[in-house]
Amino acid sequence: MADTTIGILGAGQLGRMLALAGVPLGLQFRFFDPMPNGPAARLGMQIAANYTDQDALTRFADGLELVTYEFENVPLPTAAFLAQHVPVLPPPAALAAAQDRLTEKQFFQDLGIPTAPVAKIETYADLLHAVHTMGLPAVLKTRRMGYDGKGQYVLHTLEDANQAWASLGSQALILEGFIQFQRELSILAVRGLTGETSCYPLVENTHSEGILRQTRAPAPALNPQLQEQAEHYARSALERLGYVGVLAIELFQVNGQLIVNEMAPRVHNSGHWTIEGAETSQFENHLRAIMGLPLGATTPRGNSTMTNLIGELPDIRALLATPGAHLHLYEKEPRTGRKIGHVTVCEPRAKNQ
Ligand code: AMP
Repeated sequence: MADTTIGILGAGQLGRMLALAGVPLGLQFRFFDPMPNGPAARLGMQIAANYTDQDALTRFADGLELVTYEFENVPLPTAAFLAQHVPVLPPPAALAAAQDRLTEKQFFQDLGIPTAPVAKIETYADLLHAVHTMGLPAVLKTRRMGYDGKGQYVLHTLEDANQAWASLGSQALILEGFIQFQRELSILAVRGLTGETSCYPLVENTHSEGILRQTRAPAPALNPQLQEQAEHYARSALERLGYVGVLAIELFQVNGQLIVNEMAPRVHNSGHWTIEGAETSQFENHLRAIMGLPLGATTPRGNSTMTNLIGELPDIRALLATPGAHLHLYEKEPRTGRKIGHVTVCEPRAKNQ
């Protein structure tokens, strides 16, 4: 694969980890991100320009094997423009489905997959009507650009609804029924160019203030029926989208039932454990998939716990002295609420397991 360069839209930590997985496969990388010097920039040339700058996009696409992306809010016209010059994978249809929380929920509902009840909110009267029919608590969310819990409010009272409307009311919104879940899980699945699919085990995620703090992989007390249900959801979504690459689906567990919260058409924070904790990492498998190479095994190597480093760095020496700990720093300036690295602690599987 000499001289094969892959373009990545976004130069954040996901782009960085994709490149770190691709260099041993003989791949080279080029990044496009409006913010200069992103965490990935050390691993390839970065073009820092606006996503609407067609000259910059043409320069970016020149000589690339294909383009992929590390975040789901790539503007659709950008993906469509690039697709005239070079293959864009996963297919831009996945971006369209995932960028709007309403179309995303409808996408899963059309597949017969359960989601939280949802109502489209365009006016204050819509909000009052939806609160009345759905009941409280409920969650008011922006349809677009929400991430890490941003752009959403849990409503317990009508007064909450008024306040949330004052803050979000100028944007397109949805109201979601509040799911009293036992835990949050996610599944990562990968589909190759010729349609073969493979799934990683379900993992358990702990969030606080809307930000993923910790992932335990595989999810504790994981029974085969739950895994089967999640794989069925993932495979249905992959097939419907004609998907190529890694797809992440976030789920709520309510008793034995899985309810889809959202999907991300890209590698995902809840899959970072796969770097050391699985036979093939999500990053390598994403690259294998989009390059038309055989997929790697998704089997876990044991139990892993991935913890995000958020806001400030812990004592690195102490951390590295922990047996089985693997540190990843993203070269980002520490800032409150910002993911600046992660650490995965792997416990090898006992010999008789
Ligand atoms: P999201 O940005 O949609 O992933 O939401 C961030 C977090 O808010 C989720 O990981 C959940 O912990 C919580 N959350 C979102 N939607 C709901 C819901 N409908 N019911 C209960 N909790 C929710």
